[in-house]
Amino acid sequence: MKWPTYRKLAKRAESLGLNRLVRLMGSWRGLLVLTYHRVGDAECCEFDRGVYSTDEASFAQQMEFIHRHFEVVGIDDVVRRPADDWKKRQAVMITFDDGYVDNYEIAFPILQRLGISALFFVTSGFIDRRSIAWWDEIAWMMRKQYAGSSQNEIDDAIVQTVEGYYEIPEAEFEDYLNRVGDVAQTGRFEGASPVWMNWDMLREMAAAGMSFGGHTVSHPILTRTHSGNWEHELTEGRRRLEEELDVDVQVFSYPVGNPDCFSVDIKQQTAKHYRAAFSCYGGVNQGKSAGSWDRFDLRRWPVFGSMKQFRLTTTWPQFLN
Ligand SMILES: [Zn+2]
Repeated sequence: MKWPTYRKLAKRAESLGLNRLVRLMGSWRGLLVLTYHRVGDAECCEFDRGVYSTDEASFAQQMEFIHRHFEVVGIDDVVRRPADDWKKRQAVMITFDDGYVDNYEIAFPILQRLGISALFFVTSGFIDRRSIAWWDEIAWMMRKQYAGSSQNEIDDAIVQTVEGYYEIPEAEFEDYLNRVGDVAQTGRFEGASPVWMNWDMLREMAAAGMSFGGHTVSHPILTRTHSGNWEHELTEGRRRLEEELDVDVQVFSYPVGNPDCFSVDIKQQTAKHYRAAFSCYGGVNQGKSAGSWDRFDLRRWPVFGSMKQFRLTTTWPQFLN
Protein backbone atom coordinates (compact mmCIF):
# COMPACT_ATOMS: atom_id res chain seq x y z
CA MET A 1 0.00 0.00 0.00
CA LYS A 2 1.25 3.47 -0.86
CA TRP A 3 2.24 5.67 2.07
CA PRO A 4 -0.24 8.59 1.47
CA THR A 5 -3.16 6.15 1.10
CA TYR A 6 -2.14 4.40 4.28
CA ARG A 7 -1.87 7.70 6.14
CA LYS A 8 -5.31 8.84 4.96
CA LEU A 9 -6.87 5.52 5.88
CA ALA A 10 -5.33 5.67 9.36
CA LYS A 11 -6.81 9.11 9.96
CA ARG A 12 -10.25 8.17 8.68
CA ALA A 13 -10.45 4.90 10.63
CA GLU A 14 -9.36 6.65 13.81
CA SER A 15 -11.89 9.47 13.50
CA LEU A 16 -14.76 7.05 12.92
CA GLY A 17 -13.74 4.93 15.94
CA LEU A 18 -13.47 1.92 13.62
CA ASN A 19 -10.19 0.66 15.00
CA ARG A 20 -11.61 0.34 18.51
CA LEU A 21 -14.75 -1.35 17.25
CA VAL A 22 -12.84 -3.89 15.19
CA ARG A 23 -10.48 -4.58 18.08
CA LEU A 24 -13.46 -5.34 20.32
CA MET A 25 -14.84 -7.75 17.70
CA GLY A 26 -11.47 -9.30 16.92
CA SER A 27 -11.06 -8.76 13.20
CA TRP A 28 -8.18 -11.03 12.32
CA ARG A 29 -6.62 -14.30 13.41
CA GLY A 30 -3.05 -15.40 12.92
CA LEU A 31 0.39 -14.02 13.57
CA LEU A 32 1.35 -10.39 12.99
CA VAL A 33 5.10 -9.84 13.08
CA LEU A 34 6.29 -6.25 13.51
CA THR A 35 9.76 -5.13 12.40
CA TYR A 36 11.72 -2.31 13.99
CA HIS A 37 15.15 -1.01 13.02
CA ARG A 38 16.07 2.04 15.10
CA VAL A 39 14.17 3.59 17.99
CA GLY A 40 14.89 7.12 19.20
CA ASP A 41 15.32 10.69 18.08
CA ALA A 42 16.08 10.63 14.34
CA GLU A 43 16.74 14.39 14.25
CA CYS A 44 20.02 13.95 16.13
CA CYS A 45 21.35 11.29 13.77
CA GLU A 46 24.09 12.02 11.24
CA PHE A 47 23.48 8.68 9.51
CA ASP A 48 20.33 7.27 7.88
CA ARG A 49 17.25 8.70 9.58
CA GLY A 50 15.04 6.59 7.33
CA VAL A 51 15.74 3.50 9.46
CA TYR A 52 14.14 5.02 12.56
CA SER A 53 10.90 3.15 13.09
CA THR A 54 9.69 5.40 15.88
CA ASP A 55 10.81 7.53 18.84
CA GLU A 56 11.12 6.42 22.46
CA ALA A 57 7.75 7.69 23.71
CA SER A 58 5.87 6.19 20.75
CA PHE A 59 7.69 2.89 21.12
CA ALA A 60 6.61 2.70 24.77
CA GLN A 61 3.03 3.52 23.74
CA GLN A 62 3.13 0.90 21.00
CA MET A 63 4.41 -1.83 23.31
CA GLU A 64 1.80 -0.96 25.97
CA PHE A 65 -0.88 -1.15 23.29
CA ILE A 66 0.34 -4.55 22.07
CA HIS A 67 0.63 -5.82 25.65
CA ARG A 68 -2.94 -4.73 26.41
CA HIS A 69 -4.72 -5.95 23.27
CA PHE A 70 -2.87 -8.98 21.88
CA GLU A 71 -1.13 -12.20 22.77
CA VAL A 72 2.60 -11.51 22.49
CA VAL A 73 4.46 -14.60 21.29
CA GLY A 74 8.12 -15.51 20.91
CA ILE A 75 10.04 -17.52 18.39
CA ASP A 76 9.56 -20.80 20.27
CA ASP A 77 5.81 -20.47 19.71
CA VAL A 78 6.33 -19.87 16.01
CA VAL A 79 8.59 -22.85 15.36
CA ARG A 80 6.81 -25.31 17.68
CA ARG A 81 3.09 -24.63 17.57
CA PRO A 82 1.02 -26.65 15.08
CA ALA A 83 -0.31 -24.65 12.14
CA ASP A 84 -3.96 -25.11 13.23
CA ASP A 85 -3.25 -23.39 16.52
CA TRP A 86 -2.92 -19.98 14.85
CA LYS A 87 -6.50 -20.01 13.56
CA LYS A 88 -7.76 -19.09 17.02
CA ARG A 89 -5.19 -16.49 17.97
CA GLN A 90 -4.44 -12.82 17.57
CA ALA A 91 -0.73 -13.14 18.13
CA VAL A 92 1.92 -10.46 17.71
CA MET A 93 5.67 -10.89 17.64
CA ILE A 94 8.13 -8.01 18.01
CA THR A 95 11.33 -8.14 15.97
CA PHE A 96 14.32 -5.87 15.36
CA ASP A 97 16.79 -6.01 12.48
CA ASP A 98 20.51 -5.24 12.16
CA GLY A 99 21.78 -4.62 15.73
CA TYR A 100 21.49 -0.87 16.38
CA VAL A 101 22.62 0.32 19.82
CA ASP A 102 19.32 2.07 20.57
CA ASN A 103 17.73 -1.39 20.59
CA TYR A 104 19.67 -1.94 23.82
CA GLU A 105 19.61 1.59 25.22
CA ILE A 106 16.00 2.52 24.48
CA ALA A 107 13.88 -0.46 23.44
CA PHE A 108 15.25 -3.13 25.78
CA PRO A 109 14.33 -1.38 29.08
CA ILE A 110 10.77 -0.80 27.80
CA LEU A 111 10.43 -4.43 26.71
CA GLN A 112 11.75 -5.58 30.09
CA ARG A 113 9.33 -3.35 32.01
CA LEU A 114 6.40 -4.90 30.14
CA GLY A 115 7.76 -8.44 30.22
CA ILE A 116 7.85 -8.67 26.41
CA SER A 117 10.44 -10.95 24.82
CA ALA A 118 11.45 -9.63 21.40
CA LEU A 119 13.48 -11.30 18.67
CA PHE A 120 16.62 -9.52 17.46
CA PHE A 121 18.04 -10.34 14.02
CA VAL A 122 21.67 -9.34 14.28
CA THR A 123 24.22 -8.87 11.47
CA SER A 124 27.30 -10.39 13.11
CA GLY A 125 29.85 -8.45 11.04
CA PHE A 126 28.46 -5.10 12.22
CA ILE A 127 29.04 -6.18 15.84
CA ASP A 128 32.44 -7.78 15.21
CA ARG A 129 33.97 -5.22 12.85
CA ARG A 130 32.02 -2.06 13.80
CA SER A 131 31.78 -1.43 10.05
CA ILE A 132 29.36 1.16 8.75
CA ALA A 133 26.29 -0.04 6.85
CA TRP A 134 26.16 1.22 3.23
CA TRP A 135 22.85 3.05 3.76
CA ASP A 136 24.27 4.83 6.82
CA GLU A 137 27.43 5.74 4.89
CA ILE A 138 25.44 7.14 1.94
CA ALA A 139 23.28 9.21 4.31
CA TRP A 140 26.40 10.50 6.10
CA MET A 141 27.93 11.59 2.74
CA MET A 142 24.73 13.25 1.50
CA ARG A 143 24.15 15.04 4.79
CA LYS A 144 27.61 16.59 4.51
CA GLN A 145 27.35 17.36 0.79
CA TYR A 146 23.97 19.03 1.19
CA ALA A 147 24.66 20.73 4.52
CA GLY A 148 22.63 23.95 4.52
CA SER A 149 19.99 22.55 2.14
CA SER A 150 16.42 21.86 3.21
CA GLN A 151 15.59 18.58 4.93
CA ASN A 152 13.54 17.54 1.88
CA GLU A 153 16.48 18.06 -0.47
CA ILE A 154 18.75 16.04 1.78
CA ASP A 155 16.18 13.25 2.11
CA ASP A 156 15.71 13.15 -1.69
CA ALA A 157 19.47 12.92 -2.26
CA ILE A 158 19.76 10.07 0.23
CA VAL A 159 16.81 8.14 -1.24
CA GLN A 160 18.08 8.54 -4.81
CA THR A 161 21.60 7.47 -3.94
CA VAL A 162 20.40 4.48 -1.93
CA GLU A 163 18.12 3.50 -4.84
CA GLY A 164 21.12 3.80 -7.18
CA TYR A 165 22.96 1.30 -4.97
CA TYR A 166 20.10 -1.20 -5.39
CA GLU A 167 20.54 -1.06 -9.17
CA ILE A 168 24.20 -2.05 -9.44
CA PRO A 169 25.84 -5.49 -9.34
CA GLU A 170 27.72 -6.58 -6.25
CA ALA A 171 31.14 -6.27 -7.92
CA GLU A 172 30.59 -2.52 -8.30
CA PHE A 173 29.39 -1.71 -4.77
CA GLU A 174 32.73 -0.38 -3.53
CA ASP A 175 33.32 1.66 -6.71
CA TYR A 176 29.88 3.15 -6.37
CA LEU A 177 30.50 4.24 -2.77
CA ASN A 178 33.93 5.59 -3.74
CA ARG A 179 32.36 7.65 -6.53
CA VAL A 180 29.61 8.98 -4.26
CA GLY A 181 32.28 9.96 -1.72
CA ASP A 182 34.27 11.74 -4.46
CA VAL A 183 31.29 13.67 -5.78
CA ALA A 184 30.18 14.59 -2.26
CA GLN A 185 33.80 15.60 -1.47
CA THR A 186 33.58 13.71 1.79
CA GLY A 187 35.54 10.61 0.82
CA ARG A 188 34.52 7.38 2.52
CA PHE A 189 33.49 7.16 6.19
CA GLU A 190 36.59 6.22 8.19
CA GLY A 191 36.77 4.40 11.50
CA ALA A 192 34.27 2.51 13.59
CA SER A 193 30.56 3.09 13.22
CA PRO A 194 29.14 4.22 16.58
CA VAL A 195 25.67 2.90 15.90
CA TRP A 196 25.97 -0.82 16.77
CA MET A 197 25.43 -2.78 19.97
CA ASN A 198 28.36 -4.77 21.33
CA TRP A 199 28.48 -8.41 22.45
CA ASP A 200 28.21 -7.48 26.15
CA MET A 201 24.95 -5.65 25.51
CA LEU A 202 23.62 -8.57 23.51
CA ARG A 203 24.66 -11.01 26.27
CA GLU A 204 22.76 -8.94 28.83
CA MET A 205 19.69 -9.05 26.60
CA ALA A 206 20.04 -12.82 26.11
CA ALA A 207 20.25 -13.29 29.90
CA ALA A 208 17.05 -11.25 30.26
CA GLY A 209 15.12 -13.56 27.92
CA MET A 210 15.42 -11.80 24.57
CA SER A 211 15.94 -14.10 21.58
CA PHE A 212 18.13 -13.85 18.51
CA GLY A 213 18.07 -14.70 14.83
CA GLY A 214 20.60 -14.68 12.00
CA HIS A 215 20.82 -11.70 9.65
CA THR A 216 24.02 -12.63 7.75
CA VAL A 217 27.61 -11.46 8.35
CA SER A 218 27.75 -8.41 6.09
CA HIS A 219 24.11 -7.64 5.21
CA PRO A 220 24.26 -8.26 1.44
CA ILE A 221 21.09 -8.36 -0.64
CA LEU A 222 21.35 -12.09 -1.26
CA THR A 223 19.79 -12.07 -4.75
CA ARG A 224 22.50 -9.60 -5.83
CA THR A 225 25.28 -11.64 -4.27
CA HIS A 226 27.17 -14.52 -5.88
CA SER A 227 25.54 -17.79 -4.82
CA GLY A 228 28.94 -19.04 -3.69
CA ASN A 229 28.79 -16.53 -0.82
CA TRP A 230 25.36 -17.52 0.50
CA GLU A 231 26.59 -20.41 2.62
CA HIS A 232 29.11 -18.25 4.47
CA GLU A 233 26.58 -15.45 5.05
CA LEU A 234 23.95 -17.89 6.33
CA THR A 235 26.13 -20.00 8.59
CA GLU A 236 28.92 -17.75 9.86
CA GLY A 237 26.48 -15.08 11.09
CA ARG A 238 24.65 -17.76 13.03
CA ARG A 239 27.86 -19.33 14.35
CA ARG A 240 29.09 -16.01 15.76
CA LEU A 241 25.79 -15.36 17.55
CA GLU A 242 25.74 -18.84 19.08
CA GLU A 243 29.40 -18.60 20.09
CA GLU A 244 29.16 -15.18 21.73
CA LEU A 245 25.70 -15.43 23.27
CA ASP A 246 25.47 -19.14 24.09
CA VAL A 247 22.02 -19.31 22.50
CA ASP A 248 20.39 -21.56 19.95
CA VAL A 249 19.77 -19.56 16.75
CA GLN A 250 16.87 -21.17 14.90
CA VAL A 251 15.58 -18.45 12.59
CA PHE A 252 16.83 -15.99 10.00
CA SER A 253 15.67 -12.79 8.32
CA TYR A 254 16.63 -11.88 4.75
CA PRO A 255 18.53 -8.57 4.49
CA VAL A 256 16.15 -5.83 3.27
CA GLY A 257 13.48 -8.54 2.97
CA ASN A 258 11.48 -7.36 -0.04
CA PRO A 259 10.16 -10.12 -2.35
CA ASP A 260 13.03 -9.50 -4.81
CA CYS A 261 15.69 -9.85 -2.07
CA PHE A 262 15.45 -13.66 -1.83
CA SER A 263 14.63 -16.48 -4.24
CA VAL A 264 13.51 -20.10 -4.23
CA ASP A 265 17.18 -21.17 -4.27
CA ILE A 266 18.03 -18.89 -1.35
CA LYS A 267 15.05 -20.18 0.62
CA GLN A 268 16.16 -23.77 0.01
CA GLN A 269 19.67 -23.04 1.19
CA THR A 270 18.31 -21.17 4.23
CA ALA A 271 16.14 -24.19 5.09
CA LYS A 272 19.27 -26.31 5.49
CA HIS A 273 20.39 -24.19 8.43
CA TYR A 274 17.29 -22.60 9.99
CA ARG A 275 13.80 -23.68 11.05
CA ALA A 276 12.10 -20.57 9.66
CA ALA A 277 12.94 -17.31 7.87
CA PHE A 278 11.28 -13.92 7.74
CA SER A 279 10.82 -11.46 4.89
CA CYS A 280 9.86 -7.83 5.48
CA TYR A 281 6.70 -7.04 3.53
CA GLY A 282 3.02 -7.82 3.73
CA GLY A 283 0.78 -7.95 6.73
CA VAL A 284 -0.43 -10.71 8.96
CA ASN A 285 0.31 -14.41 8.54
CA GLN A 286 -3.36 -15.35 8.42
CA GLY A 287 -4.71 -18.02 10.71
CA LYS A 288 -7.01 -19.51 8.10
CA SER A 289 -4.11 -20.31 5.84
CA ALA A 290 -1.67 -21.27 8.57
CA GLY A 291 -1.38 -24.80 7.20
CA SER A 292 0.00 -23.34 4.01
CA TRP A 293 2.32 -20.80 5.59
CA ASP A 294 5.65 -20.63 3.88
CA ARG A 295 7.98 -21.02 6.83
CA PHE A 296 10.78 -19.49 4.76
CA ASP A 297 8.77 -16.41 3.83
CA LEU A 298 7.03 -15.47 7.08
CA ARG A 299 5.63 -11.98 6.57
CA ARG A 300 6.58 -8.98 8.68
CA TRP A 301 5.36 -5.42 8.72
CA PRO A 302 7.98 -2.67 9.05
CA VAL A 303 6.72 -0.18 11.65
CA PHE A 304 6.85 3.53 10.81
CA GLY A 305 4.79 6.62 11.41
CA SER A 306 2.43 7.80 14.11
CA MET A 307 0.46 5.97 16.78
CA LYS A 308 -2.62 6.32 14.55
CA GLN A 309 -0.85 4.41 11.80
CA PHE A 310 0.31 1.83 14.32
CA ARG A 311 -3.28 1.27 15.50
CA LEU A 312 -4.35 0.85 11.88
CA THR A 313 -1.60 -1.70 11.20
CA THR A 314 -2.45 -3.82 14.21
CA THR A 315 -6.21 -3.57 13.73
CA TRP A 316 -6.42 -4.26 9.98
CA PRO A 317 -3.18 -6.07 9.07
CA GLN A 318 -4.99 -8.35 6.63
CA PHE A 319 -5.37 -5.39 4.25
CA LEU A 320 -1.67 -4.53 4.24
CA ASN A 321 -0.61 -7.45 2.04
ZN1 LIG B 1 18.68 -5.57 7.87
